[in-house]
Amino acid sequence: MNTVRLLLGDQLNPLHPWFDRIDPDVLYVFMEIRQETDYVLHHAQKILAIFAGMRELARRLRADGHHVHYIAIDDPDNRQNLTGNLEAVIAKAGAPCFEWQAPDEYRLDHQLDQWFKQSGFAGGKTSSRHFLANRFEAGNLFSGKKQWRMENFYRNMRRKHGVLLEPDGSPVGGQWNFDAENRKPWRGQPPEPVDRRPHHDHSLLWQTICQAGVQSFGNDTCADFRWPLHRDEALDLLASFIRDALPHFGDYQDAMSTSAPRLFHSLLSFALNVKMLNPREVIAAAETAWRNGHVPLAAAEGFIRQILGWREYIRGVYWAHMPGYENSNVLEHQLPLPDWFWTGNTKMRCLAESIGNSLEHAHAHHIQRLMVIGNFALLAGLDPQALHRWYLGVYIDAFEWVELPNTLGMSQFADGGLLASKPYAASAAYMHRMGDYCRGCRYKREQRTGPEACPYNALYWDFHLRHAERLSVNPRIGMVYRNLAAMDTAEIDRIRQHAAGLRARLDGL
Ligand code: FAD
Repeated sequence: MNTVRLLLGDQLNPLHPWFDRIDPDVLYVFMEIRQETDYVLHHAQKILAIFAGMRELARRLRADGHHVHYIAIDDPDNRQNLTGNLEAVIAKAGAPCFEWQAPDEYRLDHQLDQWFKQSGFAGGKTSSRHFLANRFEAGNLFSGKKQWRMENFYRNMRRKHGVLLEPDGSPVGGQWNFDAENRKPWRGQPPEPVDRRPHHDHSLLWQTICQAGVQSFGNDTCADFRWPLHRDEALDLLASFIRDALPHFGDYQDAMSTSAPRLFHSLLSFALNVKMLNPREVIAAAETAWRNGHVPLAAAEGFIRQILGWREYIRGVYWAHMPGYENSNVLEHQLPLPDWFWTGNTKMRCLAESIGNSLEHAHAHHIQRLMVIGNFALLAGLDPQALHRWYLGVYIDAFEWVELPNTLGMSQFADGGLLASKPYAASAAYMHRMGDYCRGCRYKREQRTGPEACPYNALYWDFHLRHAERLSVNPRIGMVYRNLAAMDTAEIDRIRQHAAGLRARLDGL
């Protein structure tokens, strides 16, 4: 062999130019290692989905005639770390050259760069050909700016990639953003689309993973596993999303419902993040659906904004601020996560549903992640680094480049407002407006204090009181501080006391 090429668990793109021709001098290496299963405690489905996807791509490459070396989690020769295995494989193959696709996580990128530098091998790093913007594009655009507004980045990307544009370069429909039309609550109609994800039986693989001693949490249903195994299944999922759900995506993007955990979201994040799908084809499919008259512009634009805008922008924030960003905690929040983050057993119905969905499916939609779970963590003052580890472990689509800025920046305001112009903080009134969680909840959404009051209410006001010095100067939340100024001091005392009591017994809420 002349060259060993590494494929990581989130590099499952069978269309990468590497595979354009079969080269008998190239050996492709996949490895299932404890280094990657154990850096945080992971949801069972996340481990299964990645290992199953790696095994499937290895099988297909072999079937096409490529040379593949696959190190399974229970292989006696598995050294369980990336570079240890690489050294063994390269030595055995006698290859002078090593190549790898740029990892998306700083952790792995740094590890491979350092190791390669001292290895003396020929070869080097190549692009994964996945993203539309390079790692430093957002950083360059916002260079010297205190706040990095996604909207500016997004418009730039629309222009640069010719997405949803008139021939003269102006946005179709006369405006860049239809966000204001994306905020309807869902009252049961139109019906939630049928879940058309594939079914797989991964029982044997799960047995192997457990016998190898890998720890995990969450629902480990493996006999009827619902995440895609390969690109063809991901393409089917994309087609059914465009046909059945995209027409309503815009309207109900911010809605929440106990009877519809998925609503009109795409469930494509796993397939995108492990690169079974390319963001360009997903964007093109949504734009075509609008140009063919199948979906309203607000739906197509709202969806494309998530992928061409948020997803690429978040990655830019990550690369511009790593290493170091992972330690952000400007609000100095330190409380440990309550036990019910691992069980869903809380009396707050919105959290029981959202955490319950996360544990059950390794997925929760954006508003559950941001406005229910993240919002509670922010208001209560939970340790953002512990929260980051939870988010990184629990979601099927969680890889640090995308999870970290969403959790620390968008959700926890831990970077002091680089990413979000104000904290995503809301009381029970928001929860009630956007969903049906409050109905049948043990807590009363109208009450601020007292044994039955919804904890979000006192925590919401108390959060703004505790952080008044930093936040009261922010004009976007002036109304909150005007409301606080109009409250009598006895009420403020009651709020503070009640919130302190809640924060002292989070496990019991
Ligand atoms: P849809 O609602 O159908 O959206 C379509 C696609 O847009 C998604 O598949 C995703 O690729 C992209 N997208 C949407 N919002 C974002 C965003 N804020 N950042 C980046 N991409 C976005 N997304 C992840 O992919 N991995 C994570 O680890 C992750 N962690 C998050 C943590 C927090 C605290 C928050 C608030 C959001 C997080 N998100 C993460 C973003 C978003 O919640 C998920 O991408 C989305 O819920 C995935 O479900 P879906 O595919 O049905 O998305």
